[in-house]
Amino acid sequence: SQKIVQQETIVAIASAVVPSQGSIGVVRLSGQTALEIAKRIFHPQGKKQWESHRILYGYIKHPDHNTIIDEALLLPMFSPRSYTREDVIEFHCHGGIMPVQQVLELCLEQGARLANSGEFTLRAFLNGRIDLTQAESIAEIVGAKSVEASTVALASLRGKLAQPIKNIRHTLLDILAEVEARIDFEDDLPPLDEDQVKQNLQASLEQIKQILATKDQGELLRSGIKVAIVGQPNVGKSSLLNAWSRCDRAIVTDLPGTTRDVVESQLVVKGIPIQVLDTAGIRNTEDTVEKIGVERSLQAVNQADLILFTIDASQGWTEKETEIYEKIKGLNIILVINKTDLGNPDTINYPSEIKQIVNTAAAKNEGIEALESAIINTIEKGKTTARNLDIAINQRQAAALTRAKLALTQVEETIKNQLPLDFWTIDLRTAIQALGEITGEEVTESVLDRIFSRFCIGK
Ligand code: GDP
Ligand code: ZN
Repeated sequence: SQKIVQQETIVAIASAVVPSQGSIGVVRLSGQTALEIAKRIFHPQGKKQWESHRILYGYIKHPDHNTIIDEALLLPMFSPRSYTREDVIEFHCHGGIMPVQQVLELCLEQGARLANSGEFTLRAFLNGRIDLTQAESIAEIVGAKSVEASTVALASLRGKLAQPIKNIRHTLLDILAEVEARIDFEDDLPPLDEDQVKQNLQASLEQIKQILATKDQGELLRSGIKVAIVGQPNVGKSSLLNAWSRCDRAIVTDLPGTTRDVVESQLVVKGIPIQVLDTAGIRNTEDTVEKIGVERSLQAVNQADLILFTIDASQGWTEKETEIYEKIKGLNIILVINKTDLGNPDTINYPSEIKQIVNTAAAKNEGIEALESAIINTIEKGKTTARNLDIAINQRQAAALTRAKLALTQVEETIKNQLPLDFWTIDLRTAIQALGEITGEEVTESVLDRIFSRFCIGK
């Protein structure tokens, strides 16, 4: 059934759909009739050859009545030297949604089908141009929230993740072949070199563990963390967030749809995306409406990975602070003593369980860097981050690696207990299957569905 699907020519807008982003729009065609369709609607200026990877300049016209739709550049990339390994035609049109949309519709009229999300990449995978880790990294590059996140995705696009996994898998396939041969032709072969097998198994396990250790880092880079700013009114929570967002290291995008009680901002600190929640205030109240707000703030606070409990240096630790602290005790807290221009932070008595303290003067942009360092230290503590490895696996890859790890541990047990060879092969096969799912060497349709449904249209 895959063959039939791939015979259809697909088309999509491949550039950002937001009109303000970039001044050109790209419409991408891929498939057997891509060139045919392009020749019907694109008229190059002068007598130009349609050669692969040669840009043509000309006009896109409606074939029925020759009305000019846009002036455009056309880039043909013939099979197999293209993203999908099929014939690919890209129209680089003038920006703005109108021309791009019209060119798309024209291609549809001429028999192309609108591409599903990720379908170009799916074809690249099915045609053997990329493996699954590379396909996934394309989605990650597109969705990356920080430069570092896209850097690790780029590394796995270049095959840095797939290669070691393929190597481990081939080692295991060799072992499996050796073992199966002994089962089938026991009498004709020299005995199995058990020490060699054990050594290879152990080395494979070790490598799997190392790659697994990149998961936390990968998650940090991909999803980032949630930080909630908590404190009584007027201590400077909003000022703190403003000062923080304004420094040039941070990118701020205000997320829409935030409630009145919790304001969200997105920052990037040392490559890690941080979602900051400025909570309206956690206090004891009898007012029903206010209670809902406090409830929402508390909910946000409980979902956060880290709390910035902010107090006013000129007021010190008051009963109000104790009241709030009762509600957040036990969570991961950094005490932020703000307004240090108005009061001496060293004279403040706070509960001794609070171990992390940062002094700031938000109104003067002071202490922000120290705050960032404290946050990074806190979130990296206790995590097996592998900053020196330039790959980072995602959850799907980690799940498969974990299955492989368990299976190989089981094989080691089997050998230790001197069970018959048939027992070895069961777990070896499980491990090989799991590793194959990561790279796509062994893959089921449901895995493909899950991966490619995460793409946006046009990729
Ligand atoms: P929030 O209610 O906790 O969000 O507090 P705001 O950020 O709205 O700040 C309350 C007031 O304190 C504002 O007038 C700020 O300008 C002021 N403020 C905030 N941070 C500082 C600081 O570090 N020093 C001084 N002197 N004033 C500050
Ligand atoms: Zn505020």
